[in-house]
Amino acid sequence: MKTVVCVKVCGGEINPFDESALECALTLSSDVTVLSMGPESAAEALKPLTRLGVRVILLSDKIFAGSDTLATAYILERAIKKLDADMILCGRQSVDGDTAQVGPMLSQNLGISLIAGTIKIKTDKTDKTNERKMIAETRMGEVRIDTPALVTVERGYFLRFPSIFSREGEVEHWDNSDINCDPNRCGLDGSPTRVLKTFENERGRRSCKFISFDEFLPLIEDLKSRRDDDRREKQRYSGERLKNVWAVGEKAAEIARPMAEKLTVTDELDPREIAAMAEKDMPDAILWNSDFWGRNNAPIAAAILKTGLCADCTSIETDGEILYMYRPARSGNITAKIKCVTKPQMATVRTESTSADIIVSGGRGVSDKIDKLYSLADKIGAEVCSSRGLVDMGKMQYERQVGLTGRQVAPKIYIAVGISGAVHHTCAIEDSGTIIAINPDKDARIFDYADYGIVAEF
Ligand SMILES: Cc1cc2nc3c(=O)[nH]c(=O)nc-3n(C[C@H](O)[C@H](O)[C@H](O)COP(=O)(O)OP(=O)(O)OC[C@H]3O[C@@H](n4cnc5c(N)ncnc54)[C@H](O)[C@@H]3O)c2cc1C
Repeated sequence: MKTVVCVKVCGGEINPFDESALECALTLSSDVTVLSMGPESAAEALKPLTRLGVRVILLSDKIFAGSDTLATAYILERAIKKLDADMILCGRQSVDGDTAQVGPMLSQNLGISLIAGTIKIKTDKTDKTNERKMIAETRMGEVRIDTPALVTVERGYFLRFPSIFSREGEVEHWDNSDINCDPNRCGLDGSPTRVLKTFENERGRRSCKFISFDEFLPLIEDLKSRRDDDRREKQRYSGERLKNVWAVGEKAAEIARPMAEKLTVTDELDPREIAAMAEKDMPDAILWNSDFWGRNNAPIAAAILKTGLCADCTSIETDGEILYMYRPARSGNITAKIKCVTKPQMATVRTESTSADIIVSGGRGVSDKIDKLYSLADKIGAEVCSSRGLVDMGKMQYERQVGLTGRQVAPKIYIAVGISGAVHHTCAIEDSGTIIAINPDKDARIFDYADYGIVAEF
C-alpha cells in the first residue's frame, strides 16, 4: 500500500502529531513517503527520518512561502497526485498553527474520504482475498478504512528509533517545476486569510486579591451562596452588523445572532451540501462551532468554496463588511487579528461546553496530586478539568482539557490549581464568574486573570 505522510517542521523539529502519523504509517506499510512543505532549512530536521527506510521529499519554492492552510492543502494535493498514493496520513494538527485544517481540506481536494481523530489503526486479514482490513479507532468510535483515504492521527503513537545499522539518505527537493501549481493559488497571493496584527492579550485580566489557604473553603461557601449573575457578560462580538450571516448549528447561532442583520441557521449537514447552498446565497460570513464536528467539516466547506477559514476564534468584530477574527497566536501571550479576503468569510468559534457551577482544574504543577484534586472537587461539588499540560502528560483525558484546543467554560467558580496561565488556557475561562488560582509562583500569569490568588503549593 503506497502511503504518504504529510509532515511539518515546526521550529526546527518534526511536529509531534506528524511523528505519530509516521509511526502509524510504518506499522501499516513498507512503502512510505514523507512529504513536507517548508523552507530549504527544514531539510535538516527531515534528514534523520531517512534512516527509517522512508523516502523523504521537501517541497520548497519561493512561491510557496506565506501559504495559509488553503494554499498549503492545494500544494500538497499537487504533490500527492504525482505520487499516486492509496493512503494519506496527516497529524491532527501542527503545534504552531494548530488549526487542524490542512488534513480535512486536503481530503476534499483529493476527493477521498476523511477519517479524523484516529488514535490507533488495527489491521485484520479478510477471509478470502487475503487483503488486510483496516479499522481506525477514532475519538468518535471505530471506522473501517477503505482506501484511498486520508486519516488524521492523534498523538497515539511514538516514533520508533532507527536501527543502529541504518544509514542516513538524502532528502529529495521538489520545487514548483515538479508539481506545476498555479502560482495564484500559492503563497500569500493564494492565501485568503491575512494576519493583520498581533498584540499582547489584555482581555480577561482581573484584579487579584491574595488570600491564605485558610480562607479558601469559607470563600467557596460564600461564593456558592451568591446569586448566579456573577458570570461575566459574554462579549464575543463587537462592531457593526453584517447583512447576511449563516451559522451552522444552534451554538454558533448564539454568537452570530447579534452580528447579523439577517441570520440563517443551518443544521450540521454534510459540508458539501452547506457549501452548495452557500455558493448560491453567498453570505457575508459563515460561523461554525469549533467542536470536533465543526473543526473537521468547516475546512471541507472552505476547500470547496476556496475561501478563508480562521480556526478557534475567541472573539469577532465587524465594520459592516469585513469580519475580523481574533485568536491566540503561537507564543501564548499574543493574540492575532485575522481577516479573510474572500467570501464567505468563515470562522470556527468557541462556544461553551459545560453547565457545571464549579470547576476545579489541574495543571502540570499538580501532576503527582491528581487524587488530591479529585478529593477537593468531591468536597466542594465541582467538576474536574485540566490544562493541556496534564493532558499531554497522559494524566487527564482530552475531554477534560480547557483551553483553545479544548473546551470553553463559564462556571460560577473556576479554580485553577498548578496552572501557569498561558493565553491558550485563559482565553477559555474568561467568562467564568469568580476565578481562584493556586500556585507557588507569585509571578505566575494566572494571577493576572484571577479574582483571588493563593501563593502556595497545593
Ligand atoms: C496552539 C496551542 C494551543 C494550545 N491549547 C491549549 C489548551 O487548549 N489548553 C491549555 O491549557 N493549554 C493549551 N496550550 C498549551 C499552553 O500554551 C501551555 O503550555 C499549557 O496551558 C501549560 O499547562 P500548565 O499551566 O498545566 O503547565 P505549566 O505551564 O508547566 O505550569 C505549571 C504551573 O504549576 C505550578 N506549580 C508547580 N508545583 C505546584 C504545586 N505543588 N501546586 C500548585 N502549583 C504548582 C508552577 O508554578 C507552574 O506555574 C496550547 C499551546 C499551543 C501552542
